[in-house]
Amino acid sequence: MRPDTPAENVDHAAEAARLERTSGLYPEDAEALLLRAAAHLELSGDRPAATRLYDRLLSSAATGSPGLENPSLVRALKASNLWEYDHEAEARAIIDGVRAASPRDPAPWVIVAEALESHDELEAAHETFTEGARLLLTDVPEPPYSTHPLLYGRHRVRRMLGLAHDEWDALADTLHTMPVSLDELHDPKRVWSLGSDDPADLEAEISRLRAELGAYREALSRPFPVAMLHWPADELTELLQAYPPLAAEYPSYEEHLATIEAALRELASSGTPNLGVVPGTVPSYEAFAASEGASPADPALLPQYATTLAARGRAVAWPPQRGAVCWCGSQRAYGECHGRE
Ligand SMILES: [Zn+2]
Ligand SMILES: [Zn+2]
Repeated sequence: MRPDTPAENVDHAAEAARLERTSGLYPEDAEALLLRAAAHLELSGDRPAATRLYDRLLSSAATGSPGLENPSLVRALKASNLWEYDHEAEARAIIDGVRAASPRDPAPWVIVAEALESHDELEAAHETFTEGARLLLTDVPEPPYSTHPLLYGRHRVRRMLGLAHDEWDALADTLHTMPVSLDELHDPKRVWSLGSDDPADLEAEISRLRAELGAYREALSRPFPVAMLHWPADELTELLQAYPPLAAEYPSYEEHLATIEAALRELASSGTPNLGVVPGTVPSYEAFAASEGASPADPALLPQYATTLAARGRAVAWPPQRGAVCWCGSQRAYGECHGRE
């Protein structure tokens, strides 16, 4: 099985159009779907079109019915997008509003702080990360996975400002499990070495920074998971009985589960943020196939189905919190199930 969204080779404009279409079919999930469509428009370079989607979400909430689930997130993304095409004053005003609203979700804090950071407003970025951390992490014994970017971003900006480690920085260091440590990744000397006279040094340094910044920007525009599709045992049985050609994708249930875990670990070790697992059901898969005018027996449909479910907010974050049950549904602790080394 493949993850739903390979980062490269995506036709972002087409994907945005597909997600907008899907939002018509599932109005209850329109917010998540349109946010993802806007992210694809940003990645395609059509920032004004992304702004129009953010505005559509904000105005639909203003005029009435259900209201947005996460208005601060929509505003934060809108501000970040606006600042990228020279609407700085408007972006700043929205950012002030997001900070004043004190959202309980870490994502808007991270997005506005990173917008400030990427425009060299390090002091303001630091204040913003710290406000968010104070609000969401005071007296929290185990910071939820979703708050880690807040601590990492704060750690990064503090290194750039030359500040000494505090308790939250030490916590960020222990939470970070990538091969390169946070201190090395955020070492300001690495940035200062841009002052080097050797052109080869400079070039290498600039391309490392670009790659790193690129990863941030991508994480920024994707506050939703890259999800692996998981068929619970009874659903998988039903699926393969109804559509035998799919058996090539799923030799056995155990292997299906092992493949999901292995793929997620590989994505995590390559630095892909926001990973998740999304459970499928046969009826919803058939409905999806019908809406795409395709046969459910076509394996090419599976990753698109996973993307759509994930875009509708159905994915569960991976890895599970320490001590939490496994994503596979066994009811055993993750560490004693698929989380074992
Ligand atoms: Zn550190
Ligand atoms: Zn498991």
